[in-house]
Amino acid sequence: RIVVLGSLNMDIVLRVPHAPAAGETLLGHSIAHIPGGKGANQAVSCAREGGRVAMIGCVGADAHGQALREALVRDGIDTAALHTSSSEPTGTALILVEDSGQNRIVMIPGANAQVEIDEAVLRQQLQGAAFLVTQFEIPMDQVARAIAVAHGAGCKVLLNPSPVQPIAEPLWPQIDTLVVNEIEAQALCGQPADSPQEAALAGHALRAKGIARVVVTLGARGAVAIDADGARHHPAPKVQAVDTTAAGDTFLGALAVALGEGQSFDEAVRLGIRAAALCIQQPGAQPSIPQRDAVLRSAMP
Ligand code: ADP
Repeated sequence: RIVVLGSLNMDIVLRVPHAPAAGETLLGHSIAHIPGGKGANQAVSCAREGGRVAMIGCVGADAHGQALREALVRDGIDTAALHTSSSEPTGTALILVEDSGQNRIVMIPGANAQVEIDEAVLRQQLQGAAFLVTQFEIPMDQVARAIAVAHGAGCKVLLNPSPVQPIAEPLWPQIDTLVVNEIEAQALCGQPADSPQEAALAGHALRAKGIARVVVTLGARGAVAIDADGARHHPAPKVQAVDTTAAGDTFLGALAVALGEGQSFDEAVRLGIRAAALCIQQPGAQPSIPQRDAVLRSAMP
């Protein structure tokens, strides 16, 4: 069992010839409503990897909130601890995609800003869980509370500090596994992480703050796994990237489930890389997250 605490957004994707200039009215090509948000994407990735998953978060009392909740249920995710805000709308990402492929995104956190941890409910949810998985798209004080509760209850914490913010000193030793991209790694440890060599050094610097394991993801170059045994670079398969939305979330879900199953750190990272490579070959957030059988059929890097 894996408990995911985090954001849920409705991604409204507008395909447009070009981004409109100030005062311009433009005819777009198409509109699509696609379930997203890092928290929900990671929960879906865990579920499609075969994990038993519960999601803690907050949506609005509106049609988008209902649709996001139903999307999780379709993936077999427990939504008993998913709240509905009576005052704020469901989180929304308005995404303009130009013919050139350039994205312009406006995020409205909405109900995600209303997440409030009920410690009794969280403790109950964490019973028998291998991991609490969380990110930074909900209020930081609530993330910190949840991490403290999980750590106190003996449940491992897998943190994806995205969008990146400083991590308070007392939190570091409560984190078991940290998953960061190159930008997040550099922001948190102050040294570059653009190459596998630099990522290894950055990972060691992050581990020194009290974390057992660090993964630095490097886009098309795969990821570096850093633990007490050292740093190993695992390459990604060469694939045609259509849309990298949810690549990191797909990676993280596959990693969490594999670690929960008792697979080795390196096996879990390799599974994450293969899952993410499938994700980026499909457009959109949640629709592009693969099932485990597809991941196992896919090519090894
Ligand atoms: P984020 O999307 O969070 O910034 P990355 O860009 O590092 O994170 O991508 C996460 C993972 O997705 C990478 O570790 C890699 O396994 C996979 N990935 C991303 N882009 C590509 C690509 N172009 N080719 C193959 N795999 C990719």
